[in-house]
Amino acid sequence: MIYNRCGNSGLKLPAISLGLWHNFGAGDVYANSEAILKRAYELGITHFDVANNYGRPYDGSAEETLGKILKKNFSSNDRDRMVIATKAGFDMWGGGPYEFGGSKKYLISSLDQSLKRLGLDYVDIFYHHVPDSETPLEETMAALDLIVRQGKALYVGISNYNSEQTKKASEILKKLGTPCLINQVSYSMFDRHIEEDNLFETHKEEGIGTIAFVPLAQGLLTDKYIHGIPEDSRIGRNSLYLHDNDVTEEKVNKIIKLNEIAKERGQSLAQMALAWTLRGDLTSTLIGASKVKQVEDNVKAIENLSFSQEELDMIDTILR
Ligand code: NDP
Repeated sequence: MIYNRCGNSGLKLPAISLGLWHNFGAGDVYANSEAILKRAYELGITHFDVANNYGRPYDGSAEETLGKILKKNFSSNDRDRMVIATKAGFDMWGGGPYEFGGSKKYLISSLDQSLKRLGLDYVDIFYHHVPDSETPLEETMAALDLIVRQGKALYVGISNYNSEQTKKASEILKKLGTPCLINQVSYSMFDRHIEEDNLFETHKEEGIGTIAFVPLAQGLLTDKYIHGIPEDSRIGRNSLYLHDNDVTEEKVNKIIKLNEIAKERGQSLAQMALAWTLRGDLTSTLIGASKVKQVEDNVKAIENLSFSQEELDMIDTILR
């Protein structure tokens, strides 16, 4: 594994991190979730990302599963070799007045609950999950600062913040003495909006790290949907967030062409798609996995992270 320094902080993150949004809920097969996480750790993936609302059939169940896996399999020494991140901001349990947004009331109580589900004294990173236009940014950032001062998180981050929001949040946090560690944003060959927003430049100026979520476009940037929709895929299992109408003819044509470039590089499309996210200033790319084998395949992306200008141009042409 390669470990990259996160912004101007002292913390290093693995180039590939594992997210528990899918496949770690109470409705998933526990033995499979456990095997995926254990294998990821063996392969040098030290960073695990969850959120208060992850897991089906009920919010919080992914944190419960992670808590169970940690307790059953890992010592306190292992805990010290891991970076555990959680978040609050989106709807929790239907989104009552204190279960949504960026208020101090929501963030503090949510993290207290997360720590109980995880069975931990502190998380390494606590994120505000999504900007909230109704709460003053000063209040949200003060809540993050308080959480660090209370020892409930070592570092704080933001997620889904654009360049302008990031600059404002970073300025407030710097004044409070708790610099923003990281911004977690959507970034893949199929979603390059952060490039247009100059977010990488903003992060560099502010000394903030960048972690890309959904780097495989939830599995579209693999070869699995080229010949239809496999039953054991995210779409085949009726995900709430990815549907058969997302597999358009236009997308499949692009996937086929990208797959050809990947083959020439001696990589799978998944490996190339992950390597592509890591080609510039990204700190870590945050994958999901439904099977142990996917983690094993994806980690091999780091064996070839460099792209020739010709390859990059061909990829740009396909994506245009
Ligand atoms: P990906 O884009 O990496 O998609 C992962 C899915 O793709 C897997 O569950 C699997 O789905 C499929 N897949 C992965 N590897 C392979 C492979 N080698 N071959 C074939 N198929 C493969 O990311 P996710 O959508 O899972 O999101 C990753 C993480 O990002 C989340 O867990 C979460 O931590 C974070 N996130 C953060 C958000 C935020 O707002 N901050 C929003 C969304 C996600 P299957 O086999 O089931 O088809």
